[in-house]
Amino acid sequence: MKAAPFAYHRPQTLDEAFDLLDRYGGDGRILAGGQSLIPTLNMRLATPAALIDINRLPGLDGIRESTDGLVIGALARQEDVARSPLVARHAPLIAEAMPHVGHLAVRTRGTFGGSLAVADPAAELPACAVALGARIRVAGRGGSREIAAAQFFRGIYTTALAAGEILTEVVIPASPGWRSAFGELARRHGDYALVGLAAHGRISDGRVDESRLVYLGVGLAPVRATKAEAAITGRRIDGAVLDAASAALDADLDPPADVHASAALRRHLARVLFRRLLTRLVEGS
Ligand SMILES: Cc1cc2nc3c(=O)[nH]c(=O)nc-3n(C[C@H](O)[C@H](O)[C@H](O)COP(=O)(O)OP(=O)(O)OC[C@H]3O[C@@H](n4cnc5c(N)ncnc54)[C@H](O)[C@@H]3O)c2cc1C
Repeated sequence: MKAAPFAYHRPQTLDEAFDLLDRYGGDGRILAGGQSLIPTLNMRLATPAALIDINRLPGLDGIRESTDGLVIGALARQEDVARSPLVARHAPLIAEAMPHVGHLAVRTRGTFGGSLAVADPAAELPACAVALGARIRVAGRGGSREIAAAQFFRGIYTTALAAGEILTEVVIPASPGWRSAFGELARRHGDYALVGLAAHGRISDGRVDESRLVYLGVGLAPVRATKAEAAITGRRIDGAVLDAASAALDADLDPPADVHASAALRRHLARVLFRRLLTRLVEGS
């Protein structure tokens, strides 16, 4: 199938983009990398009156250090993020997760901001953003605001973006003394994960002082395993602590069953990732 007819606009400034978003209301869709939107149009799951192509908006594709932390522009291509030395240095969790996002062809067009705006519960970057305590900057006709990643993802394909707003950049605060590890289990590399885990923790002398353990693929949005985090806080990780924390993890998760995996399989995979990544986090490997 091919997409239904639509008008195409390529604004050169944010103000022009806001005018177009106002003009079309809910019938205008922002086009970034097109890797999620265009298949949806081609399958006629969406039939917007207009596409508002934001690829020419200036200044939204950079990756830079700032006093706030690492700033990644919404239009930075996923593959540029994957190869960025700044991301490797300041957000190794994202660098480790990026190769799991689709395939090279997808990452070459797909944007960092697009992946967050889609809010697929099985996507890697939303879970990383929550684990890293990222702040998401959005702009609208009335000005700009920042939304904590933990509050941004509201449900399946649903975010805190209001009508007429554009995600402009993401700030990842510095977290000295924290380590990170990412892992996921998928049937084939490049497929959306059955289950994934973005783990970020402050470790001292083999003890977990603080952590954010965020799962993907187990709920309607990224799921923070707060009970498991509590079970490891202040502890040295050994077999007994891992057993207790795995039991706590069961209470954190209520994974869905679908054609790809049963809920029981997802629970099992979540425990496997938990043990694997916590060991890596503590060993610093
Ligand atoms: C074969 C295939 C495999 C894939 N595998 C994975 C995977 O394993 N993991 C994964 O995470 N993703 C995967 N994806 C999705 C891919 O990462 C997309 O690139 C990404 O989800 C959307 O980014 P985009 O720039 O292409 O956005 P688009 O497709 O252009 O837009 C997607 C949606 O977000 C909105 N949007 C985009 N940018 C903004 C913005 N700046 N402000 C406000 N709204 C915006 C659009 O209006 C649209 O509704 C896959 C895609 C394909 C085709």
